[in-house]
Amino acid sequence: MMQKHLWTAGFVALALSLPAGAQVAGSDHIATSGGPVDIVPIHHASMMLAYKGAHILIDPAPLDGAQGDAVTAPYKAMPRPDFILITHIHGNHFNAPILEAVSGPNTLIVAPQNVRDAMPAALQAKVRVMKNGDTGALGAVPVEAVAMYNTTPARMNFHPKGLGNGYVLTFGDKRVYIAGDTEETPELEHLRSIDVAFIPANLPYTQTVEAAAKWVKDFKPRMVFPYHYRNQDGSTADMAAFSTLVGNASLVRLRKWY
Ligand code: ZN
Repeated sequence: MMQKHLWTAGFVALALSLPAGAQVAGSDHIATSGGPVDIVPIHHASMMLAYKGAHILIDPAPLDGAQGDAVTAPYKAMPRPDFILITHIHGNHFNAPILEAVSGPNTLIVAPQNVRDAMPAALQAKVRVMKNGDTGALGAVPVEAVAMYNTTPARMNFHPKGLGNGYVLTFGDKRVYIAGDTEETPELEHLRSIDVAFIPANLPYTQTVEAAAKWVKDFKPRMVFPYHYRNQDGSTADMAAFSTLVGNASLVRLRKWY
């Protein structure tokens, strides 16, 4: 129980006063043997993680309706990232002007090959390409690239196998999984020992709330943040239903992604 208390301490007071399905703004603090990991949701699939003074920016993309300087402004206002992870080439995950605006001389960008190929030369020089199954490190943080693709026949053109990466990051004794745009695949069904998972649930690009919850029950991350859950038609997937379906298979953390 002590462990559970540590994990949830950052949001206990707020959560008690909120109805089921309500989404909470702010950052989470995950206790690890190497020190806390701070998780800051930004928008849709974009987030920042901070650990041991290093900042890891994930899939930075424009906020709703942003044009011109407003595309880069929210990211320039944040700490400069030491590392940037890109899951795949779609515009709600990869945006070259943001990367150019926030990258410093020592920024390392991890991305699939086709994302690197789509970048200006100055950015390409900062990229370490990873493909599914590759392992590496972001400073002191081991990183593994894992499968990310659609399995439903009608959706397979959205994210073909091999073009995108999910990432598993290891912070001290905790493993954090960022899924990107994927459904439950044979590889991901067998993910184990994940402490914190970020799982998409939107249509038609990824999966239904029911499929996302079923997958969570299969691999049982200790904590799950549903993200990337706005549908093509502008509606958002039913996160209260997701929470109910997951039940006590994982601690569901609903945050303000929109
Ligand atoms: Zn996508």
